[in-house]
Amino acid sequence: MKIFCIGRNYVDHAKELNNPVPSEPLIFMKPPTALLLANRPFYYPDFTKDLHYEGELVLRVCKNGRSVQPEFAERYYDALAFGIDFTARDVQDKLKQKGQPWEIAKGFDRSAPLSAFMPLEELRDRQNIHFQLHKNGELVQDGHSADMIFHFNTLICHISRYFTLQKGDYIFTGTPAGVGPVQIGDLLEGFIEGEKKIECKIK
Ligand code: ZN
Repeated sequence: MKIFCIGRNYVDHAKELNNPVPSEPLIFMKPPTALLLANRPFYYPDFTKDLHYEGELVLRVCKNGRSVQPEFAERYYDALAFGIDFTARDVQDKLKQKGQPWEIAKGFDRSAPLSAFMPLEELRDRQNIHFQLHKNGELVQDGHSADMIFHFNTLICHISRYFTLQKGDYIFTGTPAGVGPVQIGDLLEGFIEGEKKIECKIK
């Protein structure tokens, strides 16, 4: 099982971190040990002082495929979840400055809390899915999937040029603006179409 993540997939988020808007999807991966399921608490790691949340829509791959063509892309995912792409921003900034890979800033243990999946058929509009992240009851991220630079089908095609998609893979599709730090004691809650999907207590 692979966990793909897409960086800078919302213009307003790329801008808030002073990153250029990419001309093709920016892909990175987290290992399976990054998953944190069933609303288990997240323990603040000792190697960062600037841990950020990134609320994201996550696709579940339902079919194996390589070099998927756009007209078939929709057949390769069947369900959606709310995920948090925890990022050690201070560690990531240092690595970025040196031009080095991000793995330890993004792929560390339990860095990917993930809700249960809902079938795509349950969504009233798959082209524009509304999702929100609350921190301690306050709205901090308010996203619409229609604002993605690279939409679900484009991601499926692009990823599968390089990596064989396998049933059970996950794709974190990027975060909208409003990312920020968490502290021990904070509570994050993720919503899709107004319905709470996940909560994550920072311990
Ligand atoms: Zn992210």
